[in-house]
Amino acid sequence: MEAPRKLSVAIIGAGVAGLAAAVGLKDHPDIEYQVYERAGRLEEIGASIALGPNGLRTLERLGVVNALDNSIAFRNRSGFPMIYRHWRTNEITSVDSHHDDVERRHRTARFYRADLQKALLAHVPSEKIQLKKAFASATANSSTNSVTVSFEDGSSVNADVLLGADGIRSAVRRYFVPGSGPKWTGWVAFRSVFDVKLLEDLDDAILNEANHWWGPDRTFFASRLGNGLFTIVGGHYSDPDAPDAPYRGATWNSDGDVNEMRQYYKDWHPVIRRMVDASPYTRQYPNTAASALDRWSFCHGRATLAGDAAHAHGGTLAAGGSLAIDDGYAFAAALWHVFPPGSTHRATYDFKRALSLYERVRKLRTDRVISTVHAGNKATISRIRAGKEETDDQLRERVKNRSDPFWIHEHDVQAVFAKAVAEEIELNSPAAKF
Ligand SMILES: Cc1cc2nc3c(=O)[nH]c(=O)nc-3n(C[C@H](O)[C@H](O)[C@H](O)COP(=O)(O)OP(=O)(O)OC[C@H]3O[C@@H](n4cnc5c(N)ncnc54)[C@H](O)[C@@H]3O)c2cc1C
Repeated sequence: MEAPRKLSVAIIGAGVAGLAAAVGLKDHPDIEYQVYERAGRLEEIGASIALGPNGLRTLERLGVVNALDNSIAFRNRSGFPMIYRHWRTNEITSVDSHHDDVERRHRTARFYRADLQKALLAHVPSEKIQLKKAFASATANSSTNSVTVSFEDGSSVNADVLLGADGIRSAVRRYFVPGSGPKWTGWVAFRSVFDVKLLEDLDDAILNEANHWWGPDRTFFASRLGNGLFTIVGGHYSDPDAPDAPYRGATWNSDGDVNEMRQYYKDWHPVIRRMVDASPYTRQYPNTAASALDRWSFCHGRATLAGDAAHAHGGTLAAGGSLAIDDGYAFAAALWHVFPPGSTHRATYDFKRALSLYERVRKLRTDRVISTVHAGNKATISRIRAGKEETDDQLRERVKNRSDPFWIHEHDVQAVFAKAVAEEIELNSPAAKF
């Protein structure tokens, strides 16, 4: 007898979410997946990316334990995820703490993004990733009961399920929800990554901790990364609606002017000036964000989104990497749950059920992240529009009253998944029908 056809999943984007989903599906004997990536090469682009306990625990569950290794993951020596300092005095003004009892290997870690991507890629065979495949469109195909995914090179494939994991400017998202693209928030980050040896003279509290200096109108972040690297991130904020806003129109990952950055921090504490002076270059990363989507399920329950494509909240709260990993995990878990190994029955309803389970596990949470991010962005813009200089006391108050992101970073996606499954079983039990 002929073996039943495997369930096929097309994943768009070989970023953090797409690769996490691929890793989650790879051991399922009856599911085959293929990742389609727009880039011609998975290059070393980007700077630092942080993962909280949520992302690190999920990576461990997925078997990506190599990503937790100290060689590529840097964790603060103090155990605090983040230390806040005063821009002029360098004194510590506040700290973020882990609220749960978090084991050291799950404590917030900072990576050079290319290292994290490589750690995920080590679990995805290269033949499972097709490069130079830019998503163009997707339509439900009633004759084959599948989704036809077309690419910009004119080729197309049929798949049972489509996952759009193609990042913050997701073409999949824009295809299903036109006009849903992200907008500039007014924040531009100036990032660079360089050898930590360039800062050898700095003291331990700077070299072995992630520090965030807040000033009245700008910020500065610095942290060691894995692999002997160090990153600095300058933050410039303006009103995104002001026609003369500096850096309006700046493009992602474009060349910046390191001398301009030195000027920008010339009145700040010497330790910050020392780090900016050491930086051999800087690149610009305009921050963008979009509103939450009404739903995540498209193409008659055959297509969905994950990572920044599903919740384009931008870089605020450094949540994107872990949320993308949790999305990838939940997506794969939903398919495992609805289509366990050996199951041959695949009704249209089952696909809807799987994607709706995934959406139930992830959407409420990420919607809450988006509203927190928008509230923070709104407060920044109001302050800029008010045009009043912030006093030192007001700045210190603002640092103290900042939103504590522990509820994002210490979320347990596995527990929420188990709860959603239990609710589904309860809802479908014969007793529930009466
Ligand atoms: C090159 C790059 C550098 C980055 N650098 C940083 C950084 O320095 N700091 C930081 O905090 N975040 C950075 N990010 C964003 C960060 O990786 C994400 O916010 C987060 O990890 C969420 O992951 P994601 O998988 O949703 O999106 P991403 O990690 O952005 O992955 C999306 C993937 O989809 C691919 N893609 C895009 N459009 C298409 C298309 N039409 N068809 C097929 N594939 C497509 C992209 O090339 C990318 O590989 C970077 C992203 C990229 C792609």
